[in-house]
Amino acid sequence: MVEIRITGQRGEDPSAVEETDEKALPEGKKVISITQDDITEDRYHRLRLINWWNQKKLADSVVIIAGAGALGNEAIKNLALLGVGRLIICDFDGIETSNLTRSVLFRQHDVGRLKAEVARDRAVEMNPDTKAVAVHGDLRFALGYGLVRRAGIVLGCLDSLEARYYLNHHAMKTGAVYIDAGLDHLNGDVMTFKPTEGPCYECQMKSGEKKELKRRQSCLKLSREDIALGKVPTSPTISAIIAGMQSQIAVRHLHGRPIPTGRRLGLYGMTDLTFDIKLSEDPECMTHMYTDPLMEREIVELPRKASETTLDQILGDMKEKLGEPVVWSLDDDRDIITGLNCRDCEKGRELLSLAGVLAEKDALCDECGEVMVPTQISEFDGSEGLGDKTLKELGIPPLHILYGRNTETGDDAYFELSGDVDLYFGD
Ligand SMILES: [Zn+2]
Ligand SMILES: [Zn+2]
Repeated sequence: MVEIRITGQRGEDPSAVEETDEKALPEGKKVISITQDDITEDRYHRLRLINWWNQKKLADSVVIIAGAGALGNEAIKNLALLGVGRLIICDFDGIETSNLTRSVLFRQHDVGRLKAEVARDRAVEMNPDTKAVAVHGDLRFALGYGLVRRAGIVLGCLDSLEARYYLNHHAMKTGAVYIDAGLDHLNGDVMTFKPTEGPCYECQMKSGEKKELKRRQSCLKLSREDIALGKVPTSPTISAIIAGMQSQIAVRHLHGRPIPTGRRLGLYGMTDLTFDIKLSEDPECMTHMYTDPLMEREIVELPRKASETTLDQILGDMKEKLGEPVVWSLDDDRDIITGLNCRDCEKGRELLSLAGVLAEKDALCDECGEVMVPTQISEFDGSEGLGDKTLKELGIPPLHILYGRNTETGDDAYFELSGDVDLYFGD
């Protein structure tokens, strides 16, 4: 006689499932213990049959996908199918006809719509258990540190060196695991970085790449456009393979299982050769040297929103915590541009922008056509005449974390715009 006992739930602790003492059973009797999860044939049944799988862990997870192009489409599709609870999808671009060969989430009639928004809609359509948030904007400026630290994991599905460089900084700053994927023709690779362990993205950059990065940002902190951006030759086959690897590593990480930290894994698509390269730390890596990790710091969670909080208000909060005289320092964050001046004509223009957002072509003098010089501020004490400007107007993204310091005592702390949390984590 065989008795089937249904015991417990698979998940957190498989040992919690009651074991049957075979020897204590009467002769000829056999007991098979299965869990409730094994017989409930819901959407995730086949996934749960993987013995270490924990669907609840995935449902409770938040993953940021930076870039909703070829790789991002595949990663978003995978994570939605897997039942990851929340996807934050960041992209600055609109859908073009030429994207359609590599974008499983996009249709012909989507051309002209925003990639982040269409990807969000399709993810939720594929799996209503998944919540998705579209962040339309340049990830370098649109992702607040508070958002990245709360997610704890970012997938780089990008085609630009500069975007990767900044995403790496965000990850190092906030402690998020950064899984980067890249494509080139039929080749692709995945690199996995943990901020507390081994090399970061910058560590493995070649000197030519660092030069290229410098070239993009002129010494005036105005960005230069790259016409070749996003025009990497590639195919949907390799993007599916590489984003598949990337998503699988992410899922393992979300389960607390080992991941290939500090390694570059990939495939040469013309020869089917795979590679696994151990990356090393660069002792001269700027990101490693100059990033002050938030994980080790006190973060004051303020019920404030970037769109409503003025400069005076945030300085007031900092004063309350740290005493006077206090400054909001942009230290290893981006400087803020408050105006432009022409060296030749002595003409000026007022504007507010984060350094790097403003392009050279938008900073030309009306009179002589020369690139004007930006006035940059890296520390605010309230004397700038900008006290009534909101943080949003100053270029600060929602849920960002700002650094305050008492210039006399040296006491410092970080302040999070936690009032924005519902923008990303609300229902
Ligand atoms: Zn590094
Ligand atoms: Zn001029």
